[in-house]
Amino acid sequence: MAARAHLRRKFLSAKVAVSGANFGVAETGTLAVVESEGNGRMCLTLPDTLITLMGIEKLVPTFTDLEVFMQLLPRSSTAERMNPYTSMWTGVYPGDGPQNFHVVLLDNGRTNVLADEVGRSALHCIRCSACLNVCPVYERTGGHAYGSVYPGPIGAILSPQLTGTTDHDDPNASLPFASTLCGACFDACPVRIDIPGILVHLRAKQIDSERHGLPTGQDLAMKAAGWAMGSERRFAAAEKASKIGRVLGGATGRISSLPYPGSAWTSSRDLPSPPKETFRQWWARTHAGTER
Ligand code: SF4
Repeated sequence: MAARAHLRRKFLSAKVAVSGANFGVAETGTLAVVESEGNGRMCLTLPDTLITLMGIEKLVPTFTDLEVFMQLLPRSSTAERMNPYTSMWTGVYPGDGPQNFHVVLLDNGRTNVLADEVGRSALHCIRCSACLNVCPVYERTGGHAYGSVYPGPIGAILSPQLTGTTDHDDPNASLPFASTLCGACFDACPVRIDIPGILVHLRAKQIDSERHGLPTGQDLAMKAAGWAMGSERRFAAAEKASKIGRVLGGATGRISSLPYPGSAWTSSRDLPSPPKETFRQWWARTHAGTER
């Protein structure tokens, strides 16, 4: 009640309001805001002047298209058949609501996203948050961990694309790597954005940008692993060599410090010591005489 009394005074005395919009209709010039509390409606209707900032991807061609999203959004977001407060306005109406209206269509990196044939489907997002609700990473880290206004799986593909950053130390650039690629977001998304596919695409772009035409540490590690796994003899030798790791792990059974280049891993994570017996050794011991 205290918040309501405080905010009501503010709403009634404000001359200018700034809002966003969930959708804009190109055919009629109508804008729509979908919300649950009614504060948005007071912002949209009480001040004399309304300024609406809307991302260019929010435009739908016709009013009939808007009808589809008006059903899809609340059902995917809060499982309601209809949204509590849906406000729509088309310009100004004398004597009712704001008498001055300005709409700002915001690009802010969106045309760059559009230029990427794989990543562009992120712009189909209707911000229902269904992908957030099913994401195991979001569930454990919460929204602030994403460091941008778009949290969760959609934020992990949209934020780095909007900022166009490839600096790996930038939290936005590292977001595509903070995923298990479990695919729960893709299953939940009502507009079928292939979030895991775009995450992999953005990872590849990021790695390419770091290569500068030269192989990275990861490239070399993968090449070495491929070479070792390409022959049974080499693989057995690599297994034997891994026993050294048991010495490094000591009594704790965790390796927490390695010389370069292994230090790139152990500077922020540890890893378990190799087991006493490998799977192949166990198999040879327990299945003597049978084929591998
Ligand atoms: S990506 Fe899909 S599920 Fe996630 S918020 Fe956007 S529309 Fe909803």
